[in-house]
Amino acid sequence: MLVLKFGGTSVANAAAIRQLISILKEKENPKMLVVVSAMSKVTDLLISLYQQAAAQDPAYLELLGQLEAKHMQAIEELVPMSQQIEIKGRIKMIFRELEDVCRGIYLLDELSDCTKARVMAYGERLSSAIVSVAFQHHGLPNVLVDSRDFILTDSTYLNAKVKLPATYKLMQENLPAAALVVAPGFIARSTEGKTTVLGRGGSDYTASLYAAALNAELLEIWSDVDGMYTTDPRKAAAAYSIEELSYEEAMELAYFGAKVLYPPTIAPLVAAKIPLVLKNTFNPGHKGTLISATPAASTQKVKGISCIDHMAVLTVSGSGMVGVPGFAMRLFKAVAQENINIYFITQSSSEQSITIGLSEAEGEKAVEAISQEFADDIAHELLNPVALETPMSIVAMVGNGMVQQPGIAGKAFSLLGDHGINIRAIAQGATERIISVVLKTPDAHRAVNLLHDRFFLAVPASSEAALA
Ligand code: ADP
Ligand code: ASP
Ligand code: MG
Repeated sequence: MLVLKFGGTSVANAAAIRQLISILKEKENPKMLVVVSAMSKVTDLLISLYQQAAAQDPAYLELLGQLEAKHMQAIEELVPMSQQIEIKGRIKMIFRELEDVCRGIYLLDELSDCTKARVMAYGERLSSAIVSVAFQHHGLPNVLVDSRDFILTDSTYLNAKVKLPATYKLMQENLPAAALVVAPGFIARSTEGKTTVLGRGGSDYTASLYAAALNAELLEIWSDVDGMYTTDPRKAAAAYSIEELSYEEAMELAYFGAKVLYPPTIAPLVAAKIPLVLKNTFNPGHKGTLISATPAASTQKVKGISCIDHMAVLTVSGSGMVGVPGFAMRLFKAVAQENINIYFITQSSSEQSITIGLSEAEGEKAVEAISQEFADDIAHELLNPVALETPMSIVAMVGNGMVQQPGIAGKAFSLLGDHGINIRAIAQGATERIISVVLKTPDAHRAVNLLHDRFFLAVPASSEAALA
């Protein structure tokens, strides 16, 4: 069994879908499952759609029309005229249903996460239906399934948590035995029967769930770049594709911002040791990046540099926290109760302050939660008012080879210092596989390029090992 996932740009239009078809035709695997994302930008447009409807802006109807035209155009270019009626009818029905949902939002002035997930799910429902029919007409008979019938989640509608054993059981017992199955990514269903989605970028995760359940020999994720690059190619023109990574390295790079891979994707593959390859739909001859339990040894100690923007740094400080047992626990509990994800934690050695990194969007909410929890201490000036700094970025250097390798952090910090870049906080993962620094966002771009040049470029091959 081979599982393949094609992202938004790989199904963006008829030409991309034809390219995808030619990739599949090269395959000799007797059984394949293909997961597709929504057509490029469609999820963003669906979000605008419910926002406009909720804001009582009748322009949502225009947007709906544009979305429909985009999907119809793909059908017209992929399916012979005489065969278009059935699929066009099906797509029209889906759009009328979506129109009803939007009218409901418009009239009721109500927009819950449940409704948002329901609207966002249309992107993958539409793209998978069209891709499946396009396959039929290009010599790739297949069965289309709805991933909501196989992926069971909790009710965190927009970032739903998958119930793994139940999901695997449904997939193993109920997926059709066809040689080629087409499935939408991203979408799932809660135990209460409502549509949920797996978080932005979640189609990668859908594919890895299918791969793990079906014990695939390989998962291929097809996107618009030649694999995982040494850093975000949009931020550093010198970035290049990494040949091999361990699961842990890939997970860290993804977690700290390498958008090409959705971070939760790796976990289901690890237990079953299923290798993952990241490939480029528009350059299929390139080897891409192989991610596995046993990557080939590399002289490169730092394998990649990631960067996440839109972060906030929150600091709690004051004499009232020194030597008080349970202080940190109360702090983290207050944040956790708001469902806020913490990216890093540092504590000063005198215990006079704790600094945490979290997403900028959740900064104010965290300040409120902590201020409430420690209201008495703040009122009595035992604690300073909670401080929030934005916009911040985290730059993370990742590589298994950094383990027990002295000097890398020192080199990185002095390089940034020499260029006048102030490091606001430093965190090293307990595994020594990652060193991350927190900087002001206006400095982050330059920091990524400086570090990238230092660790990846201008290094004669023979001296690579010595340097890193
Ligand atoms: P898809 O729609 O196929 O899932 P994404 O847009 O989610 O594709 O991810 C691919 C994009 O990720 C690339 O176009 C690239 O701009 C961006 N990206 C960010 N960091 C990296 C990285 N380290 N390596 C490769 N691509 C990266
Ligand atoms: N279409 C969804 C998104 O844009 C899921 C995905 O593309 O992976 O977030
Ligand atoms: Mg993606």
